[in-house]
This record gives sequence, C-alpha cells and structure tokens, in this order.
Amino acid sequence: MVMGDFERDAQVVVLGGGPGGYAAAFRAADLGLDTVLVDAGGRLGGECLFRGCIPSKALLGVAALLGDAARAKGLGIEFATPRIRLEALRAWKDGVVERLAKGLEALCRARGVELVPGRATFEDGRTVRVEGGGRIRFRQAIVATGSRPTPLPGLGLERPGVMDSEAALALPEIPRSLLVVGGGYIGLELGTVYAALGSEVTLVELTDGLLPGVDRDLVAPVARRTAELFKAVALGTKVVELAERDGGIEVRFEGALEPARQSFERVLVAVGRQPNTDGLGLERTGVGVDGRGFILVDERRRTQDPRIYAIGDVAGEPMLAHKAMREGKVAAEAIAGRPGGPAERPAGGGRPFPLERLRARPDPREAGGAHQAPDRSREQARPRGGDRGRPRRRGDRRGGAGDRDGGHRGGPRRHNPHPPHARRDGHGGRRGLPRERHPPPPSPLRRVRPALSLG
Ligand SMILES: Cc1cc2nc3c(=O)[nH]c(=O)nc-3n(C[C@H](O)[C@H](O)[C@H](O)COP(=O)(O)OP(=O)(O)OC[C@H]3O[C@@H](n4cnc5c(N)ncnc54)[C@H](O)[C@@H]3O)c2cc1C
Repeated sequence: MVMGDFERDAQVVVLGGGPGGYAAAFRAADLGLDTVLVDAGGRLGGECLFRGCIPSKALLGVAALLGDAARAKGLGIEFATPRIRLEALRAWKDGVVERLAKGLEALCRARGVELVPGRATFEDGRTVRVEGGGRIRFRQAIVATGSRPTPLPGLGLERPGVMDSEAALALPEIPRSLLVVGGGYIGLELGTVYAALGSEVTLVELTDGLLPGVDRDLVAPVARRTAELFKAVALGTKVVELAERDGGIEVRFEGALEPARQSFERVLVAVGRQPNTDGLGLERTGVGVDGRGFILVDERRRTQDPRIYAIGDVAGEPMLAHKAMREGKVAAEAIAGRPGGPAERPAGGGRPFPLERLRARPDPREAGGAHQAPDRSREQARPRGGDRGRPRRRGDRRGGAGDRDGGHRGGPRRHNPHPPHARRDGHGGRRGLPRERHPPPPSPLRRVRPALSLG
C-alpha cells in the first residue's frame, strides 16, 4: 500500500475499489499489466460490500429466519417471541463484511495489485492526482467510482430521523414506525428487514407499481408478500413535505395514502442513486457524461477519451454489482488488446463465450497491436482455474450447470446476492489464484433463504 507523496507510472490505474474496480484491477493484473487501484476509503469492496449487497443480504437472512420461526406455528411448532439484541446482530453483520473485506485484500496482494488509499481526480487525460500528495501517470485509466443515494428532491437527507440505505444498514435502532420512500429493490429489502425486526413499515412509491422496470409477473408475488408484511403500501404516492415534530417526523403525502399527513419515528429514503462523477476532474479529460452525470461508454467500456474506460454504476444502469464486475473484466481485456472477450456475450447470461473462438482469432499483439501485454496473459486466460479442459456436468460445483440456481451451493436455501451469470463467464483468474467472486454472506443458521432479494 502506497501513502503520502509519490510519483508513479502505471500501465493501468483504476479509480474505485468496488466490485467493478477490483474485478477490473484483478483481471488487468492477471493479464500481466502493471496495475494500481486507488480507492477513497482505502479498502476493496465498495458500496456492495460495506453499504449494499452484502450487509443487506445478511440482514435479509435474519428476516427470513424470523419469518420461518413465526410460520412454524402453522406446523404445530411454537417458538417464544424472539428477543433481538441489536448490538449482537450489528456485530454479526459487521463481522460478515469484515471477513469478506479481508478476503479481498488477500486476493489483491496475491495478484500484486498496488492499492493506494485516497480520493483520485484527473489532472489531465494522462495523470491522476491522489488526495494527500500522490500522482500517477497512466497509459490507461478505468473509472469505477460508483454511485451514492439520491436525496429526496427539495427535501434533503440531512435531518434527524431521515436515513439513506447506508444509515439504515447501520441498524441505529428498531423504530416503532418506519416510512420507506421508494418501492425499488433497496426500499423493499430494507423495509422487509425492519418489518421482520418489529417496525411498523409504511411504503410509498411514486409510480403505479413496485420495482419499476421489472417484469410484472415476477413482481406480483413480491407485492403480495410485501402487503402481508408491511402496515401499508401506497402506489402513485408522493412525499411533498417532511417536518420534525415531537421527536418524530411528520410527512405530508399526495396520492393514495390515507390520511395524507402521518407521523413516523424514522424515514428511509430509497428513491434511486446518482453517479459519483462530480469532482473527478473529468472536464480536464475527453470523457463525456450524459444529462444525469453518467459516463458515456461503448460496449467495450471505452469513453470518448481513448485512454479512459468507465465501468459499473458510474457508467449507467442497471446499477448492480455483477454487472459492474463483468464490465470490469471487459474493460481490462479491451486494454490488454484481447479481441472480443466477455463483451461478446449477452449481459443477461446466455451461453458462455466459446474460448476456442477467442483463441482461434489472430491476436493483435502478435500483429504489433497497440496494447502490448506480456505473453503469459494469453496462457492465463483459461476457463475456471482448476478444471481446465474438463467438460462441465450437471451438478458440477464450480460454475457448471448445477451452479445456475443463483449460487445455492450450501443447500437449496443458501443465497448469493450476485446471480450466477456473473460467475459463468469462462474467464479464470491467474493460474492457482482464487477468483474474486463474493462468497454468499454466512447465514445465521447456515441455511436461510432470501426473504426478498431482487438485486
Ligand atoms: C442496499 C443495497 C443493496 C444492494 N444489493 C445488491 C444486490 O443484491 N446485488 C447486486 O448486484 N447489487 C446490489 N446493490 C448495488 C451494488 O452495490 C452496486 O451496483 C455496486 O456496488 C456498484 O459497483 P461499482 O464498482 O460500480 O461501485 P461502488 O461499489 O459504488 O464502488 C465505488 C468505489 O469507488 C470509491 N470512490 C468513489 N470516488 C472515488 C474517487 N474519486 N477516487 C477513488 N475512489 C473513489 C468508493 O470509495 C467506492 O469504494 C445494492 C446496493 C445497495 C445500496
């Protein structure tokens, strides 16, 4: 780890150590490129590990366990009312995150990726300055700075009792009443957690359906379950005013919710996320952004500046970790001069890319292509580290057909937040090195199922 004042040259600098950034850095290093990763927090994992997928799925596991215990009554088995020790629950969740963070650090060290802590900004299209004094001159850069929660337009998040997803995942307390603003997957997941822990949850959504953009047939069972679990779900409803009153928050609504003025102990705002592009110095490069600040890229994640790539949340929807990881690999392979690669496969999964086709093509580096990478990179680009050459069978534990169930390897009800196509890309890591996929967060009793997991 590099700190303080330094000057350095790198073939690849990655800005941001979330799932997109670390997947890109690991792949670039596996392909033999001298790679530096700069992260503002100085740790690998990003929103997903510290403030997103992993803590939320760990807590959803707890919610499912509580739900199962309650439902067991119908089977003639009665448990006592659970007593929730919030401090212990918080410590367990934080322990899950910490273990995975340490695993990523080990993978980073093993690959020789240099991790630089600090906020990075572009000085120009060839140089990145790292807060605290460092400067890195790069041949290629990958922007993977992610996204952050969007505040409620005009109403703000900076008031007591109003939380974003990060604050909600910190489990400050279990409020008696909670208003969730936003019926996307983040609002639904966190509302489910708090409802299971004992809060009375009311959810309002501006559009006329939960999970906007998702197939309505898939949403229907989620909507049914949510209606059972929450005190109220109001669609087509807008929050127009928030005011602190008597230690709570009074909220005025326009739409379907009655009464139109209600008080809550806490409010969770989950109305979307915005890209972390402001303050990056992109104006000093050739990189273009759209009207909402997302970086414009082509299918190989190239921006309008030929030296700079962008991946993950910062480069647009869908804002999901497995999409960020895949794009990270696409960008690293494009930089290494590999033809095609993962970009040639459909984003939603589909058939694995036939590596034979990739190998059969002329390699541009042999023809004196622009991006020279050491020869060992080709050697290393083999499917799935250990089982090279072995055809996969149904039930194969390592990414074969039996792994297509969403990562339920520890039993039918074990859950992985990242769908399997993120792991079935046919691109193994460096020989002998473990790959960077997240293991599923440990469940409280080893076997839990997601109460509601849509991410
Ligand atoms: C509550 C919640 C639950 C979620 N659940 C799921 C799920 O189940 N499945 C799923 O696929 N996705 C889920 N997501 C979405 C997922 O977390 C994101 O899509 C994913 O983290 C995006 O990865 P990324 O690499 O693009 O960026 P991020 O994970 O946002 O990482 C960006 C990194 O860049 C760093 N950074 C920012 N600016 C700078 C800078 N200037 N210089 C250096 N470093 C910088 C940050 O410190 C951070 O570490 C969830 C999100 C939330 C909030």
